[in-house]
Amino acid sequence: MAEAALPALAPVTLGADEKLRVVATTNIIGDVVRRVGGDAIDLTQLLPAGSDPHSYQAKPDDLRQLNRADVIFINGLHLEEAMQPVLANLDGGAPVIAVNIGVPTREFGGGRGAEAEHAGADPHTWMDVRNVERWVENIVVALSALDPAHAEIFDANAAAYQTQLDTLHQELVAAVASLPAQQRKLVTDHDNLGYLADAYGFTVTGAVIPSLSTLAAPSAQELAALQQQVEQEGVKAIFVGTTVNPNVANQIAGDTGAVVIPIYTGSLSDASGPAATYIDMMRHDMAQIVAALQQ
Ligand SMILES: [Zn+2]
Repeated sequence: MAEAALPALAPVTLGADEKLRVVATTNIIGDVVRRVGGDAIDLTQLLPAGSDPHSYQAKPDDLRQLNRADVIFINGLHLEEAMQPVLANLDGGAPVIAVNIGVPTREFGGGRGAEAEHAGADPHTWMDVRNVERWVENIVVALSALDPAHAEIFDANAAAYQTQLDTLHQELVAAVASLPAQQRKLVTDHDNLGYLADAYGFTVTGAVIPSLSTLAAPSAQELAALQQQVEQEGVKAIFVGTTVNPNVANQIAGDTGAVVIPIYTGSLSDASGPAATYIDMMRHDMAQIVAALQQ
């Protein structure tokens, strides 16, 4: 389980032309915060499209934004592990709020080598839409406490977005329904699709990096075992996030006849890509997954 409750938040004193200064770490969190805050907030999102949230390190300008913020939204659950030293030592005094407060987390027990380092709660909660609905609840409560003058706007924005998320969740459930149960098997780049699997009826049968973080490295034995599994089970596709180096997955695919299918997991695409928003990302990924497994 993530942290249970939001911290107590006092209203920020804002001038007549001033907006609440909000920083979000990942671009997925940034998109969700933007849906709730709309034009009423001044939002800075730190991670550019295509960056890996596990390995991203804060740049000098990020540090300036973090130190002048009124509130900082993070994923938590050690997702932003390379940024943690910066987040833990800010001068600005802004509350740092994990959007995953109250989200029931998957526990990952990996007990060997690279896996043991990253055992614990799985940070990739957004791959189940219902968890992002919880993010929205946390974000609206936090923004409304910090900027009560705009609480009605935040509430209205959040309600409209929750309706879209409900629809998205139903769409994803429906998309999987056409796929025979024995074909609902996922092999991934690292262990990032656990929530998606649990929510939408898949099994994760293997990962190139058998870890919750991309910062771990697979052993030669682990790779050999994965290759054998891909061959024996006739795995057709390896789903590789766009933020991850696909070399090893490409090699396994080349040796086994599987195909590598790019999906968006740690980051949105840029504005012209197929995953410019969180909703587009989930829709695109599910379409890619279902198409690849239906072959
Ligand atoms: Zn990840």
